Amino acid sequence: MERAGEIVQSVFSGQWDIRQQRKVPEIPKQIKDMQSTEGAGAQPQQHKFQEIPLQSDAGQAGSSGASGQQRGFPGQSKNSGSSGQAGSSGASGQQRGSSGQAGSCGASGQQRGFSGQPGSCSSSGQQGSSGQAESSGSSGRGSSGQAGSSGSSGQQRGFSGQAGSSGSSGQQWGFPGQSKCSASSGQPGSSGSSGQQRGSLGQAGSSGSSGQAGSSGSSGQQRGSSGQAGSSGSSGQAGSSGSSGRGSSGQAGSSSGQQQKIQDLPSPSQDNKGGELSRMNPYAGLVDCLRATWLTGKTRPMEYRQGQLEALNRFLEERRSDLLHALNQDMRRPHFEGEVAEVAFTRSEVNNALNNLSCWMKDENVSKNLATKLDCAFIRKDPYGVVVIIAPYNYPINLLLVPLVGAIAAGNCVIVKPSELARHTERLLAEALPCYLDPETFAVVTGGSEEVTKLLENQFDYIFFTGSPRVGKIIMTAAAKHLTPLTLELGGKNPCYVDKCCNFQNAANRIVWGKFFNAGQTCIAPDYVICTIETQERLMPCLRQAIREFYGECPQDSPDFGRLIDDKHFRRLRAFLECGRVAIGGESDECDRYIAPTVLADVKEWEPIMQEEVFGPILPIFTVGDLDEAIHYINRKQRPLVAYAFSCDCKVVNHVLNCTSSGNFSGNDTIIYSTLVSLPFGGIGYSGLGKYHGKFSFDTFTHQRGTLLRCMGLEAINTVRYPPYTEGKLQLLLSLVDVKRKGMCTLL
Ligand code: NAD
Repeated sequence: MERAGEIVQSVFSGQWDIRQQRKVPEIPKQIKDMQSTEGAGAQPQQHKFQEIPLQSDAGQAGSSGASGQQRGFPGQSKNSGSSGQAGSSGASGQQRGSSGQAGSCGASGQQRGFSGQPGSCSSSGQQGSSGQAESSGSSGRGSSGQAGSSGSSGQQRGFSGQAGSSGSSGQQWGFPGQSKCSASSGQPGSSGSSGQQRGSLGQAGSSGSSGQAGSSGSSGQQRGSSGQAGSSGSSGQAGSSGSSGRGSSGQAGSSSGQQQKIQDLPSPSQDNKGGELSRMNPYAGLVDCLRATWLTGKTRPMEYRQGQLEALNRFLEERRSDLLHALNQDMRRPHFEGEVAEVAFTRSEVNNALNNLSCWMKDENVSKNLATKLDCAFIRKDPYGVVVIIAPYNYPINLLLVPLVGAIAAGNCVIVKPSELARHTERLLAEALPCYLDPETFAVVTGGSEEVTKLLENQFDYIFFTGSPRVGKIIMTAAAKHLTPLTLELGGKNPCYVDKCCNFQNAANRIVWGKFFNAGQTCIAPDYVICTIETQERLMPCLRQAIREFYGECPQDSPDFGRLIDDKHFRRLRAFLECGRVAIGGESDECDRYIAPTVLADVKEWEPIMQEEVFGPILPIFTVGDLDEAIHYINRKQRPLVAYAFSCDCKVVNHVLNCTSSGNFSGNDTIIYSTLVSLPFGGIGYSGLGKYHGKFSFDTFTHQRGTLLRCMGLEAINTVRYPPYTEGKLQLLLSLVDVKRKGMCTLL
C-alpha cells in the first residue's frame, strides 16, 4: 500500500492564502448571499399545457418530489390534498402557475404550469413556501460546528458541515429518499476532511508555516499549511480524527430529523478504518463533500452560476498581472501571447456564458407524436453533478478555466487539476482561484500522474481531459471503470497543405505565427507543411522572411519568443533536428531550454519527426507529387485535431475540406479560428472525443434529460396500447406513434 506521505496534493478552501499568510479577497457578497439562501429556486420556467378536461386520480403528483421545474399535470385540480403532502417535502422553488402544481412536488427550480387546474388548490403556494422556509433555515450549515472542533491536528477542512447542509437542503429539493442521501453525505463529509488535508506548499516546494491550522475556523474550512509540505499526507489524516465530531455539531444548527441520522453514523475515524481509507483514497472525502453539496441543489439556480462566473471574471481581472507573470516564469511566455491566448480568451468565454446563460438553460420543447399531443415533451438541461477537469501545461490557464466556465455554467460542482509542469501557474491557480470561487462547490487538486490516478479512482459524473493521446488512453480506461462519460481533448499531427497557387508571403506569415506562437507548444499549431517540392522552394524564403521580421536576427534575444517547458521536452525536440535538412534556424541552448524557430526541408515519411506530434518550434516540410497525393497522405494517418489548407483557389481549399477528416479545419489561416466561441473545438478519433467552447462547453457539461409529462386523465386514449392486444389496436397505436416518411403517400 502506498504511503500517503508520498502523495503531494493540495486543496484550498479559499479562505486564507496560506503561503503569504495574508487575508485574501472575501467571497463576494453575491455568493455569500446565495450561500445563505442555498437551495433557492432556479428561474421558474413555465410551460403552459393544453387544457384538458379533468378526470382523475389524486395524490400522485404530491409524491413526485422532483427537482427542477415544476410542471403541473392536467387533471390535478382535485388533488389539492396531495399537494399538501408534496408541499411538506419542501419546495424551494418559486411556485407559480396554477395551484395544485405548486403543492404537488417539492422542487426547487422551474415550474411548469399545467392547465386544467383552475381553482384547484389555492393554498399550495404557501405549502411550498413553508417547506422552503424550514429547509433554508438549515442552510447555516455545520460550518461553525466544524470550526469549533478543529484546530489541533493540522489542516482540517470541514466538509461535514456541508454534508449537514446537504441533508437539510436535500429536503428543499424534495428528492424522495433524500434523507438517506444526506445522512450518508454526513459521513463522507467527515472522512472528507481527512482526504482534503494536505499541503499546497509541499508541492510548490516551499514549506508552509505552521500554526494556521487553527487560525481560521470560522468558515468551516480550516486548513493548516505546515507539515503538508509535501511529505506527509499522514498529518492530514491525523486531522481527520479531529473532524469526526464536526459534522454533527455543525448540523446542530440545521433543522429536521436528518441531523440525528448523521450524528448516529460512525465516522471513519471512529471505526478505525477512516485513516486507512483516506490513505488509500485521499480524495474520497473531497469528492463526497462536493457531491453532498451537489445534492443540495446549490449549483442549480441561474443566479448562483452567474455569481460564480462573475467571480471568475474578477479573478482574471484582479490577478491578471500575476497570471501573466507566472506564464512568463514557466515558458517565458510574452505578455502579448499570455493576454491573447489565456486571459482575454478565457474572459470572452466567461462573458459569452454570462450573456447567454438564461437562454442555454431553458427547457427545449420537442415535437410530439399523436399519442402525446396533449402532453409536455421537452429536454431539460441538467447538470451532470460532480465533474473533474484535468489540464495540460501549454496553455495552463485557458485549458483549465475555459472548460471550467462550461462546467459552472451548466451547474456542476467541479474539481480542477492544473498541470504540474507549468508549476508557477499551477501554484497561482491553486492558491488564488479558490479565493474567488465557492469552496463548497469547487476545489483545486494539484499533483501529477500519481494524484490523477488516485483522484480518478473516485466516481465522477463527467471527466474533461486535455492532454496527450497517451495519457488520454489512461484517462479513458479509468473512466471506463465507472462508466463515466468524458471529453478527451488530445493532440496529434496537424497537416498544413500549401498549394502552388498562393500568396506565399501571406501564407508564410500566418503559418509562422501559428507555428511559433508559444514556441510551438500549441495543440492546434500546424505540425508539418505538406506541398510539392516546387512550392517548398517558393515558400522557404517567405518563411525565412517572416521569422526574421517577427523575431529578429537572433530569436533567442527576442522578448516575443517563448521557451520550452522543461528539459525533457527540450531533449525530445532537439533530437528532431537530425531529421531532413535544416533550412532555417536549428540552433539550440539547453540551459535556456531554447530551440530557434526552425524549418526542416525534405523530411521523409519514416523519420521520427513525422512519426509523432512535434509540439515545439520545429516545422518540417514534407513534399508530395500533387494535391491528391497530399490528401492521400493525410488520410492514411491518424485523424488530426485540425487541418489547414492555403490556396488562392477556393476550389483547392474546399477540396481539402471535402476529402479529409479532422476535428477542425481552417482555410488560409492557422490558429486564429480557435478564438471563435461560436465554433465547436475538439478532435476526432485519435485527436479526441467531444467538443467545447461557447455553448458547446455548456452542452458538454449538461445532461440532456429527455422528459415527457403526461396528465393522469384521458385514460381512454391509452386503452389502445393495453392487452388484450388486437389487430385493430395495433394499427391504431402505430398510426399514433409511427414517424411517417415525408412526401410518401400513405393512401395507396
Ligand atoms: P499530458 O498528457 O502529459 O498531461 C496532461 C495532464 O495529465 C496533466 O495534468 C498531467 O498531470 C496528467 N497526467 C500525466 N500523466 C498522467 C498519467 N500517467 N496518468 C494520469 N494523469 C496523467 O499532456 P501535456 O504534456 O501536459 O500537454 C501536451 C499534450 O496535450 C500534447 O499532446 C497536446 O497536443 C495536447 N493538448 C491538446 C489540446 C487540445 O485542446 N486538444 C490542448 C493542449 C494540449
